[in-house]
Amino acid sequence: MKGSNGKRALVVGLGHRTGLGACNFLAKRGFAVTGNDVKSHGDLAPVLEKMDPSVKIAAGHQDPSLLDAGFDLLVLSPGVPQSVPLVRAARERGIEVIAEIELAYRYMKGRVIGITGTDGKSTTTALTGHLLSGLGVKALVGGNIGIPLVSLVDEASDDSVAVIELSSFQLETVDTFRADAAAVLNITPDHLDRYPGMAEYAAAKMRIVRNQTSEDSFVYFKDDEILRGLPGQVKSRPLSFSMRDAGADAFLDGGKVFLRRGGGAVPVFSTSSMAVMGPHNILNAMASLLLVVSVLERRGGDIDLARLGELCTSFPGLPHRMERLGVFEGRTFINDSKATTVGAVETALRGFKGTAVLILGGRTKGDDYSRLARAMRGALRGLVLLGESRNEFSRLFSEFSPVIVETLDEAVAAAMRISLPGDAVLLSPACASFDMFENFEERGRKFRESYEKLARGGLSWM
Ligand code: ADP
Repeated sequence: MKGSNGKRALVVGLGHRTGLGACNFLAKRGFAVTGNDVKSHGDLAPVLEKMDPSVKIAAGHQDPSLLDAGFDLLVLSPGVPQSVPLVRAARERGIEVIAEIELAYRYMKGRVIGITGTDGKSTTTALTGHLLSGLGVKALVGGNIGIPLVSLVDEASDDSVAVIELSSFQLETVDTFRADAAAVLNITPDHLDRYPGMAEYAAAKMRIVRNQTSEDSFVYFKDDEILRGLPGQVKSRPLSFSMRDAGADAFLDGGKVFLRRGGGAVPVFSTSSMAVMGPHNILNAMASLLLVVSVLERRGGDIDLARLGELCTSFPGLPHRMERLGVFEGRTFINDSKATTVGAVETALRGFKGTAVLILGGRTKGDDYSRLARAMRGALRGLVLLGESRNEFSRLFSEFSPVIVETLDEAVAAAMRISLPGDAVLLSPACASFDMFENFEERGRKFRESYEKLARGGLSWM
């Protein structure tokens, strides 16, 4: 793969930074590149402006006849399912189909950390980068977190560590990808609109370990029912983390996180000093610690555990994940727009003491939403429903007397009316954002705007 020898590549899916990145990456390496998207030229204009001029564009359709031009390689953007006729036809013709991650990996230098799971991927990826950089290691953070891996390849060197967030979709089309240390944070139902069942979803996630050998590490959450049974099936060294089991390689005991080292257990940091909230962030920190320590051990040299502990507590977290916006009339506003799964909302509700008004809803993803009722009982002052799922959720959660709204401004005003001083107002939707917003970031930004309007006195709510 190193030399292109004039090979022809088709990149499918351009409405995303990854597709653009892959086209330019391949063009720079001498491939004859065609970029394809179902969107029209007009809709793709902002992307096409940044495209290498040598890239041919086939826009407005995804017809398998595109393949008649002859290709050696098809690179799939993460948003495009493998099941589309074009991709199936490519496979039938013997064209290699790979993810952008796989493409970048083939050119990558240095060590590689891969992180997947249903929830916590971006946070753990960012935190792992924060730990490595804080120790003075050159860390390159990318993948599903929003920075295409192809854009990091040029910066990689023998002493760098690439920290890569991987979605199950990206993992479906990796082939030679091998992580020196791989983490599966948890496996709870998600994307069951795209997978036939949990077994298939879990299998896609576990592709992260398929090329690992006994020299590599597999970091996993021991308290997760599905993951607990898997280490026996992997070739790499299993390293577990747990909230309750002091036999794990990282565990919580008496408010401290411990790492198992050389036969003993060493305290690394106190969870009360953490800048981020919620027990899930303790889990993410344990996973990051195990990943960083196992990769640095392989490079040799001392590891400053005290410094790692400080870095775990100082990590500020990412926006849109249990992000505290501020307090208005005694109500703490929390933006958890990235909570697009039932598991993430359960985590959010467990993550703070006291009661909340929850703003829920959006585009559903085939999850079992009725499960949420259990987490809501006792934690909710009230429920506000927004988005496409509002009628379905109104039936499902009638016991919480939900208020249905059309906009985030209305949601904030309704939450103010229902809540009492001391409560939290939590946007943690359990759903994708695409019914009303461009993405979860836009939903989170708009929520912040509504909160700021309220705080300025510009939003009437009484
Ligand atoms: P991902 O990249 O997997 O979607 P993020 O780090 O962006 O994960 O967090 C998404 C949502 O999941 C947030 O609402 C966050 O509060 C919640 N979350 C983060 N870490 C975990 C975890 N370990 N377990 C469950 N939920 C989590």
